[in-house]
Amino acid sequence: MIIVMKPGVLPKQIREVMERIKKMKLEPHLLRGTERNVIAVIGDERNLHRQPLEAIPGVENVMAVLKPYKLASREGKKERTVVRAHGLTIGGRALAVIAGPCTVENRTMLRQTARGIKALGAHGLRGGAFKPRSSPYAFQGLKVAGLKLLAEARRESGLPVVTEVVDPRDVPAVSRFADVLQIGTRNMQNYELLKAAGKQKKPVLLKRGLAAGINEFLMSAEYIMAQGNYQVILCERGIRTFNDYARNTLDLTVIPALKELTHLPVLVDPSHGTGKREYVIPMARAAVAAGADGLLVEVHPHPDRAWVDGHQTLSLDEFARLMDEVGKIATAVGRTLN
Ligand code: PEP
Ligand code: MN
Repeated sequence: MIIVMKPGVLPKQIREVMERIKKMKLEPHLLRGTERNVIAVIGDERNLHRQPLEAIPGVENVMAVLKPYKLASREGKKERTVVRAHGLTIGGRALAVIAGPCTVENRTMLRQTARGIKALGAHGLRGGAFKPRSSPYAFQGLKVAGLKLLAEARRESGLPVVTEVVDPRDVPAVSRFADVLQIGTRNMQNYELLKAAGKQKKPVLLKRGLAAGINEFLMSAEYIMAQGNYQVILCERGIRTFNDYARNTLDLTVIPALKELTHLPVLVDPSHGTGKREYVIPMARAAVAAGADGLLVEVHPHPDRAWVDGHQTLSLDEFARLMDEVGKIATAVGRTLN
């Protein structure tokens, strides 16, 4: 159920509704909007009595949410969610471009990357300190030392930091250093990790699983939101198909589909989505044309020397071209890139 509150509702009236729901042994979730607040009700709805709620001052109407992802659904909350983190805004008219290496390697390269991308107009710095690698013998990331380098790069550049967390036990450490926690494709259905990310306060960037359908993707977002963290960003990063010319198939149709089903912002990662440097800029343009709220892209000062994913990583010159070309598409579709 969703309780839609009237515009200009008083905080006291919201509290009253929340209290009544708790008395019915149900869980109220307040989803704030600039125009309207809605209260999503989670739990056994047989306990919910609709009429007395509709009579509370400030309540506009009470309606059923048919989708299983109650908090992520657009059925109740029509207004789009704008996620904010340390100056980074995702989901507004302005696009958000988050760039950086696949993995944090050392201070010098991270500093060079942060300075370079900042000068070219990036809005956030990405870089993995905890890496989920396909091989147990591959480099697993600098871990806490990597987080410290990211925090240092943020202090120097002013860019907010997005970095992955792979284990629920690391959530407190990653959340202390990062501005946005990333949950990678391999962990989209790691429910304990989703719950742990939902219990902390920083926004979460959730990547679509390699073989996840749209319902599964949104149910994973719901796991995070059900813990009280509504600052979730969805990220399409390519799925597995019979395509044998690229690392993955970047499913751009999912952008309008998600825009219809959820109020959460949608990013696209054309680096993992294609696995090939030459395909990154065209797909970044296409993603923005299709309505993405921004991009997550791998950039390194020397991609040929990158420890991980060099083949799909842009140099700073190539990133400059991406920003230039994406900027033109942004204007064409009524978005901005500044
Ligand atoms: C990443 O962005 O660093 C990453 C590992 O991506 P994915 O989870 O999409 O493979
Ligand atoms: Mn990578």
